[in-house]
Amino acid sequence: MRDELQEELKKHFPKLIDEKTQIAIGDGWFDLITCLLQTLMITPDKPRLDDISTKFGRLRVTSFSGVSDAAHGAIAMSEMMSRYICSVCGNKTDINHTDHRSRCLAHSDQAR
Ligand SMILES: [Zn+2]
Repeated sequence: MRDELQEELKKHFPKLIDEKTQIAIGDGWFDLITCLLQTLMITPDKPRLDDISTKFGRLRVTSFSGVSDAAHGAIAMSEMMSRYICSVCGNKTDINHTDHRSRCLAHSDQAR
């Protein structure tokens, strides 16, 4: 994810992510991760996230300190939804799941 998008997330959600949070996802999931962070802000624990990455083509969100059931549900849903959103551009149609990536047809040939 571009630096300016990461900085925007850190600015708007300082309780959830900070300079130590590793963010390694495509720009196409910016809206998805923003919705997740907005949802986590209304959970009782507002968990600090350690890692936001991709595993087998899906979003993977980790908090080493553990999360409440409510936060876990929000994270699980965003991870599931990531399969249906191109990680490069955010397109939600014609998603190709080959090579453990979630990409639309226009971006399925790109290395990253
Ligand atoms: Zn795309």
